[in-house]
Amino acid sequence: MEHVLLVVSGPSGVGKGTIVKTLVKRREDVVESVSCTTRAPREGEKHGREYFFLTKEEFEKRIEENDFLEYDEHFGNFYGTPKSFVKETLKTKSVILEIDVVGGLNAKKEIPQTVLVMIAPPSIEELKRRLIGRGTESKEEIENRLARLEYELSQKDKYDYVIVNDDLETAIRDLESIIDGKQSLK
Ligand code: ADP
Ligand code: 5GP
Repeated sequence: MEHVLLVVSGPSGVGKGTIVKTLVKRREDVVESVSCTTRAPREGEKHGREYFFLTKEEFEKRIEENDFLEYDEHFGNFYGTPKSFVKETLKTKSVILEIDVVGGLNAKKEIPQTVLVMIAPPSIEELKRRLIGRGTESKEEIENRLARLEYELSQKDKYDYVIVNDDLETAIRDLESIIDGKQSLK
């Protein structure tokens, strides 16, 4: 069976991380790619687990070496998907990239079979509640993320699937069905 490259996008706080992390814990045939970033680690984040935390100079060097499948700048920091990891892993497992819409569309340009999945909130109020409730960003960072929300959601027509993350378990199952459906087609 061939494997699927899946991009999961959606506004900050919608539950992408929660959905993807739960799914990869349950499935040995699906892994999440670890991106590189120049932002500082949040409390509890570990180098190589949530992200590879690089300096700006290290990140720029990797851009020059054509090491990223795609990369982009958000909130003043760079984020990028390591190309070699994704291509190597796809030989044996499906890979999920949890990246923004610009990154997702760029990844699809590089690898056209990429499946784009947008996670949408049940309502904007609920999204704000989750983002504030998570308690990991400052007030200013929350404002920045909310300002980007409409843009992220406005791109959903360019995506292959939209999953509304109302009930968490249903959303996880919806994502699994997409992966299983694509795998069985190959
Ligand atoms: P993202 O990765 O999209 O920024 P997170 O996965 O960090 O979002 O989720 C943001 C917050 O919302 C977390 O506190 C998480 O526990 C909560 N959350 C995620 N999915 C749901 C859901 N279906 N119902 C209620 N809360 C949720
Ligand atoms: P955070 O700082 O909250 O972890 O992530 C901020 C934003 O960067 C999110 O929208 C996330 O999806 C995006 N992001 C994370 N990794 C990558 C990546 O490798 N490439 C791109 N283009 N965006 C990413």
